[in-house]
Amino acid sequence: MYNNLSILGSTGSIGTQALDVARLLGLNIKALTANSNVGRLEEQMREFKPEFVAVTDENAAKDLKVRTADLGIEIDTGMDGLCRAAAWDSADMTLNSVVGMVGLTPTLAAIEAKKEIALANKETLVAGGSIVTAAAKKNGVNILPVDSEHSAIFQCLQAMHDKKTLKRLILTASGGPFFGKKIDQLRNVTREQALNHPTWSMGGKITIDSATMMNKGLEIIEAAWLFDMKPEDIDVVIHRESIVHSLIEFCDNSVLAQMGLPDMRIPIQYAITYPMRYPSPVGQLDLAKCVALSFYTPDYETFKCMSVCKEAIRKGGLFPAAANGANEKAVELFLAGKIGFTDIGDLVEAAANAQSRTQGELTLSQILDADKAAREFVETHIK
Ligand code: NDP
Ligand code: MG
Repeated sequence: MYNNLSILGSTGSIGTQALDVARLLGLNIKALTANSNVGRLEEQMREFKPEFVAVTDENAAKDLKVRTADLGIEIDTGMDGLCRAAAWDSADMTLNSVVGMVGLTPTLAAIEAKKEIALANKETLVAGGSIVTAAAKKNGVNILPVDSEHSAIFQCLQAMHDKKTLKRLILTASGGPFFGKKIDQLRNVTREQALNHPTWSMGGKITIDSATMMNKGLEIIEAAWLFDMKPEDIDVVIHRESIVHSLIEFCDNSVLAQMGLPDMRIPIQYAITYPMRYPSPVGQLDLAKCVALSFYTPDYETFKCMSVCKEAIRKGGLFPAAANGANEKAVELFLAGKIGFTDIGDLVEAAANAQSRTQGELTLSQILDADKAAREFVETHIK
């Protein structure tokens, strides 16, 4: 178990649940970060007494300094502050739960400082998988998955003795609020309809990603990097009830699944306590009350973001960074009411296709440039 944590994005959905876990396990919180939510951050500082806090937004940081002057806790701002929190000396694990590509540089900073990583921030691996996994290997750092599907696979993999016997990963997907709908029924869906997820309560960006199923596309790429698997050996199955969190298949066609109620505190806790397990506040799974567990083939045509991501990881290079960057921008525009729901998939597809193939090893600046270019592409291609 990692007793000393730095939590990036502590005010978000995953961040606050990670603090629930920390409170119950009696862990020490060494550093916390947020973008601008100083109200919640102040509460967290008063309860957990971290040594260091970073707030990306400069005005919010000034405000927080005034509000918490009595605590004497150091507060920094900007990307420098975020990276300092990621690499905070007295922390032994950094839990990255910021949303978006902004998490990439701090993930690398934490790895360079040899902190174990609990990773919720999937965009980090999607865009920068090659450099993040190489840096983790070089520094002898483990990346422990927080994403529920990847945690499920990781838990199932504990039963594997030889990687050669692993045939396939099967990611489950709830299908989101628009399961079964066709493209014509999706053109006019509203922000509120898209934010109404059937089984999980999450931050805004990932909730939209679940509605477009970009989230599952991102997770295919995330799984390819985390578990060193070929994209063609990673499948998706729709599972409406979100009880089976993912599965692995061996060469003898034996399949292992991890199950439980849909509550992120189980995967968050397992990343922190691995390889040990401790009691958790999450309820027991009562299978007799589940009525049915249903499974369906995904609709890759309607939910094209999934196909774009599969193609992006197959092509490699900067394609995943471009798809991810375009999606982040498109989701922002959709939430701001500037584009329609189905425009998201069209823009992600067009931005990924506009990317040219890159040969050889990638650098951080190439990845950041591809991300920026994809966002600009989206802005200039709004209908
Ligand atoms: P939220 O939007 O709820 O929280 C995001 C956190 O990141 C907040 O603390 C926010 O601060 C901070 N943040 C936002 N923008 C910036 C920025 N530009 N610079 C620095 N910090 C920033 O997101 P979630 O908790 O839902 O998701 C976090 C990550 O975990 C995502 O990558 C998501 O895909 C992944 N994930 C989430 C799951 C979930 O159940 N929520 C499940 C699996 C994965 P502030 O509050 O001040 O805005
Ligand atoms: Mg997930």
